[in-house]
Amino acid sequence: MILKKQYKHWSARFHADHSKEPIAVQMELTYRCPLHCVHCYSGCYNNLEYAKKELATKDVKILMDKLYNAGCLWCAFTGGDPMARDDFLELYEYAKQKGFILTLMTNLVALTDEILEKMIEEPPFSIAMTLNGATRETYEKISQVKGSFKIVMSNIDKVLKAKLPLKIKTLLSRNNIHEIDRIKAFVESKGLKFYPTANIYARLNGDTTPCQYRLPIERFIANGIDGEDECGNVVDHKLQTKKFKLQNRFFRCAIGNWQWHIDPYGELNICSFVREPAYSLLSGDAIEGITELADYIKNKRFSRHSECESCEIWYRCYSCPGKAKLEVGDEEAPVPYFCKLAKRQTKTIKM
Ligand code: SF4
Ligand code: SF4
Repeated sequence: MILKKQYKHWSARFHADHSKEPIAVQMELTYRCPLHCVHCYSGCYNNLEYAKKELATKDVKILMDKLYNAGCLWCAFTGGDPMARDDFLELYEYAKQKGFILTLMTNLVALTDEILEKMIEEPPFSIAMTLNGATRETYEKISQVKGSFKIVMSNIDKVLKAKLPLKIKTLLSRNNIHEIDRIKAFVESKGLKFYPTANIYARLNGDTTPCQYRLPIERFIANGIDGEDECGNVVDHKLQTKKFKLQNRFFRCAIGNWQWHIDPYGELNICSFVREPAYSLLSGDAIEGITELADYIKNKRFSRHSECESCEIWYRCYSCPGKAKLEVGDEEAPVPYFCKLAKRQTKTIKM
């Protein structure tokens, strides 16, 4: 019999054990995904070779044990699509039993009745999904999977009927901007808030194919999209980034404070866009790994003068060392699209 932890017990133990800020992790459980979105930064490698390299169930559980002992409070399962793993239910149950505040990042395509029942029985803190079209034509042009629109629409209804905490985001691009009003109307008709974003990045392997789908800068601005990117570390941390700039820090976002990333092979990373340096969490210790990465972030400096180093509007910019390395192959250089956008937004938006 599985002993269920009450949140109050977990909370009491956590506060007794940890005087420092709690840790949050994003666990990328797999690169596999039932969709193949044209703009995806991950690339969603749907082949067996990648699946074979992924951590086994027991190893993911070992990581969760280590994170729990290190004081991890929030855990987000992401991918690829975490539900693409055959052992998703087992890992979900284990994370819930540990007492993590659990978020699922999924497109809902792989949702089964069994997973739904489990989530009703033991709900996650939130389910975050992306809906990039309000019509089959647009949705499947982006997802590149025939029949996926019907499945996702049905699964959104199931999740909402079950009163599970769903958040729907929309990534606006040249492929769906014509449908912005319809997507907004659909999301709002479900009683949810419309969350448009428009930040498209190069893939983790440096492939810049997704960048061609970015909105023209004028459309980005005209649609009033502002303030949130997938790592949530840019505008929200304006004051902090200014402080870091004064300290001449290389990383001026909020990384290194409390939020970390783990890839499907058990490597602990700074965040989802910065995969080097990495610390092997399976063979190592969570606190040691976090301390090493935090020191790297704290001590890293620009190696030369670059426009980004002396930039006065860094805090407005959606680029960063991770995204620059993937797109222009140089973590210290500006990314022309984001550079232009930041400059245009600075003129348009009163700070
Ligand atoms: S380095 Fe870039 S991708 Fe990573 S958290 Fe900071 S802003 Fe986000
Ligand atoms: S890309 Fe441009 S706007 Fe962004 S930090 Fe670098 S110089 Fe500033």
